[in-house]
Amino acid sequence: MAKQDFYDILGVDKNASASEIKKAYRKMALKYHPDKNPDDKEAEEMFKKAAEAYEVLSDPDKKARYDQFGHSAFEGAGGFGGGGMNMDDIFSQFGDIFGSAFGGGFSGFGGARQRVVKGSNLRIKVKLTLEEVANGVEKRVKVKRKVQAAGTTYRTCSTCQGTGQMTRVTNTILGRMQTSTTCSTCGGAGQTIDKKPSEADNHGMIVKEETVSIKIPAGVVEGMQLKVTGKGNEAPGNGISGDLLVVIVEEDHKTLQREGDNLHYDLYVSIPEAILGSSKEIDTVTGKVRIKVDPGVQSGKILRLRGKGIPSINGYGKGDLLVHVNVWTPKTLNKEQRAFFESMKEDDHFEPKPTRGEKSFFEKVKDMFS
Ligand SMILES: [Zn+2]
Repeated sequence: MAKQDFYDILGVDKNASASEIKKAYRKMALKYHPDKNPDDKEAEEMFKKAAEAYEVLSDPDKKARYDQFGHSAFEGAGGFGGGGMNMDDIFSQFGDIFGSAFGGGFSGFGGARQRVVKGSNLRIKVKLTLEEVANGVEKRVKVKRKVQAAGTTYRTCSTCQGTGQMTRVTNTILGRMQTSTTCSTCGGAGQTIDKKPSEADNHGMIVKEETVSIKIPAGVVEGMQLKVTGKGNEAPGNGISGDLLVVIVEEDHKTLQREGDNLHYDLYVSIPEAILGSSKEIDTVTGKVRIKVDPGVQSGKILRLRGKGIPSINGYGKGDLLVHVNVWTPKTLNKEQRAFFESMKEDDHFEPKPTRGEKSFFEKVKDMFS
């Protein structure tokens, strides 16, 4: 089933401002809030969908990528992201949005809810050659992440009894008001350090270098961000790990230039090759191939090698390789060569007589973009 458009889910238009998006999300989140719709699976689904849409549209960076690449910006092939958000993610990320309506804390499902502490995300850049972009690749990268030190033990926080929240009841002119705040002793984790080895920090964490294997799907684009769930920093206690965000950096290729899913290659032929025709070796992302240049080829002709470009990240086929023919003209000639070309100068056969079939540069540019 195709994934629903994030703007449609929130019921806002593509040009909506950040505050309009936030307002729309808040409205939906309150309508489908689990406290208001106990045991209603449909409301829960809507609540999750809205949070997922808001997670992307509230982040300028993610929003820009979503606008450009759609859902594939966050999923790709090879097991990235996807799968939506769970309730703990939603409350830990967007809890503040319900603030004024729900008094700052939630009971969530089934009574007392413990806020789940999530480790922070890590971000790395991965450089890819054009060949790797075209074919997809598995990269092994070294990541320094915080992990719980061996030998660290936690115990239930005595201040909040493990709920991660402190509830205060105050009498006001409007009656008794109950407010909840994050527990200051455990920071909301519901647990505190019992024992830890000396090299660990105050949360029982150490930094450890780990090798992470990342499957990069074919067709990724410079600046695209892939998510490896759970490979960011671990959280103390029974918290959940953050994510590893992998930013794609594309290396320049020696002879091929990328334009979307198409590739461009400049082919140079000599004057005799242009006149007599020839066979030339060119680079592609899957190795060298030999192509035939017909006799009488014009400079500026584009030979299109279908499907020799980059596979679409959305899975819609492959781009083409466009070979641009350039006739190479020598700047100097020896005496005999000069005499030969001088003798051809008056020959009417060498007069340019472009026909309709030999499109001008401008017509070709028009074709390429249409
Ligand atoms: Zn506590």
